[in-house]
Amino acid sequence: MQQFDVIICGAGPAGSTCALGLFDAGLHVALLDKQSFPREKICGDAYGGYTYKILNTISPRFGARLLALNQGAMIKRAQFVSPKGHLVELRLKGSFTSLPRHVFDNFLLTMVKEETNTSVFENTTAQKISIEKDHILVTTHEGKELKAKMVIGCDGAHSIVQSALTNTRETLTETYPGIRAYYKNVKGLEPDCLEIHFLPNIPKGYFWIFPSTNGLSNVGIAANKKMLAKHNINMRKEFHYLMNESPQFKERFAEAELVGEEKGWSIPIGYFDSTLPISGNRVILCGDAAALVEPATGEGIGPAMSSGRYAAWQIKKCFAQNNFSADFMKGYDKAIRKKYVRNYFFKTSITNLYYRMPFLMDWVIGFFSVLHRLQGRR
Ligand SMILES: Cc1cc2nc3c(=O)[nH]c(=O)nc-3n(C[C@H](O)[C@H](O)[C@H](O)COP(=O)(O)OP(=O)(O)OC[C@H]3O[C@@H](n4cnc5c(N)ncnc54)[C@H](O)[C@@H]3O)c2cc1C
Repeated sequence: MQQFDVIICGAGPAGSTCALGLFDAGLHVALLDKQSFPREKICGDAYGGYTYKILNTISPRFGARLLALNQGAMIKRAQFVSPKGHLVELRLKGSFTSLPRHVFDNFLLTMVKEETNTSVFENTTAQKISIEKDHILVTTHEGKELKAKMVIGCDGAHSIVQSALTNTRETLTETYPGIRAYYKNVKGLEPDCLEIHFLPNIPKGYFWIFPSTNGLSNVGIAANKKMLAKHNINMRKEFHYLMNESPQFKERFAEAELVGEEKGWSIPIGYFDSTLPISGNRVILCGDAAALVEPATGEGIGPAMSSGRYAAWQIKKCFAQNNFSADFMKGYDKAIRKKYVRNYFFKTSITNLYYRMPFLMDWVIGFFSVLHRLQGRR
């Protein structure tokens, strides 16, 4: 049996950032992922300047390596289109990038391998997590046992670490199924602009067209699972209808060609609404495993990296004080709540209001759209 101080399950943005955050802790850390990198991750691939900020606060060297990566489509604007077609455009502050996740996540994991002493196990699925009083035990798909003082659940939307903590995930968090596909030859694509379309048939969700690398578009749709069931909407059908038949988009997709496969995955949004525990005796959950995705936009890379960094801080405290109790772990919960509670409360309330009174979305976007045009005339 191999022994570690900390086992991090999942090497996405949350897991890799947590491992980077421990680079100077002098701990014996294992990072497991069931896939081998570079690996694909279904995503809109859009993220903001926080990626740099988070890495830079861990070590300016890590921030500098991200700047040196210098890849992806540079995004400067975002357009929000209301169900009735009103459009408002925002200039995005700071650097926004659209970069496929097989590149970005591999960049983070490569940095873990090169800059830390972490033992990285790819192609290794954590199959069973046993949380004992004085240690945790991770059993892999090959039947190997890894022992540690703490386990960090960074294993995404269907986290088994989360299940080891509580078996009630599905009822506690809101799930948004999403579909993503890459297309070439989408007409009218602006290479520095994200398009977000709120449409009547996508309840509590949206259709997006984001510029990607090599002239491709990242096109997708995501909506609230309960609302889809309530209104009996088949999201995949809706996705195809929008591109192939709808008056708004069919012309733009007339010559579009699918590159690769169209794929689906869930977005766990619900940290704010639920009573989901995000820590416990010897356990911390980060990113999607803690359902930390931003409720209004579906942005999850930032919260995943940020929570990975908070987890690293908490881990250092646990080892400094030799305290791994559920009570002590509440320091992590507190930090997460402080960072997200106000922001998520505001965004959850606004989102719920819009979807209860959809005309509001048209009014608000319509109002800003007129304001924008008037400002443009001055
Ligand atoms: C359709 C869609 C579009 C999205 N668009 C955006 C966007 O444009 N911008 C944005 O910021 N966010 C977006 N998100 C959300 C974002 O993808 C996630 O929030 C983010 O990936 C969370 O990072 P994570 O590290 O927590 O989990 P993940 O990135 O899911 O990483 C989890 C890792 O754990 C590994 N793993 C899982 N189970 C095990 C196991 N048992 N043992 C070992 N390893 C395991 C997986 O292989 C994976 O590598 C989107 C999500 C979807 C589904």
